[in-house]
Amino acid sequence: MSACDLGSEPGGKGEKISIGIKFDQPGLGLKESDGYSGFDVDVALYIAKKLGYSEDEVVWKEAPSAQRENLIESGDVRFVVASYSINEKRLKEVDFAGPYFLTHQDLLVRGDEVSITKVEDLNSRKLCSVTGSTSARNVKEKLAPQADLQQLGGYSACLTALENKKVDAITTDAAILAGYASQQQHWGKFKLVGLSLSDENYGIGLRKGDTELKGQINKALGEMVSDGTWRKLVRKHFNLSSYKSEPPPRIQD
Ligand code: GLU
Repeated sequence: MSACDLGSEPGGKGEKISIGIKFDQPGLGLKESDGYSGFDVDVALYIAKKLGYSEDEVVWKEAPSAQRENLIESGDVRFVVASYSINEKRLKEVDFAGPYFLTHQDLLVRGDEVSITKVEDLNSRKLCSVTGSTSARNVKEKLAPQADLQQLGGYSACLTALENKKVDAITTDAAILAGYASQQQHWGKFKLVGLSLSDENYGIGLRKGDTELKGQINKALGEMVSDGTWRKLVRKHFNLSSYKSEPPPRIQD
């Protein structure tokens, strides 16, 4: 397979690199009128630069939860940085560099909700999550199998459903939910329940067997932690009064 098939050309010569991110997750990966922002976006940019690409050589592609493996396998993107948890099922199809971030599955409810305080409370309620996510799978398989689970294409669609009372809660990673709760236009509308229902270790998804790229990305991630960038980015992108971050990861080669 040529480098071109992998969504990129070697860096440093004005060629482009395609990277998959989320477009609708404030704090992680968000498409705005004047560009892209979030922790995952900055992590991706840091890696791209270490691989020899400048910022304007990066082509951002939306990587919805259910499409991440496909985007990698088809070569549409060189790698994915999109709240992408490392797990056994995904490791059958793709490889991961990292992990570079740890968060936990939690619930987001409306600000005036008092009857959802633990996961069992969901068994009689309407719950929203996203197709292809670990969050939806955890709910169905173990956390609240009796919940009326609606699976949508992205978490922003769940947020609209929660606001309009079509669902009673959203479940996914606390880092994602905290981003929605702290958006200015949502102040006071939503709150995190504060449960730690799983460990979600975010990795950088890449083509299975591409050990060279995996090694390069792990090296970049190690430098990102040791030069202080990781901590700076956590402070920049997460509202640490509402979201408790974990210590920096240890990156293995
Ligand atoms: N981190 C979880 C996952 O990879 C949930 C967030 C997401 O859907 O991106 O499935």
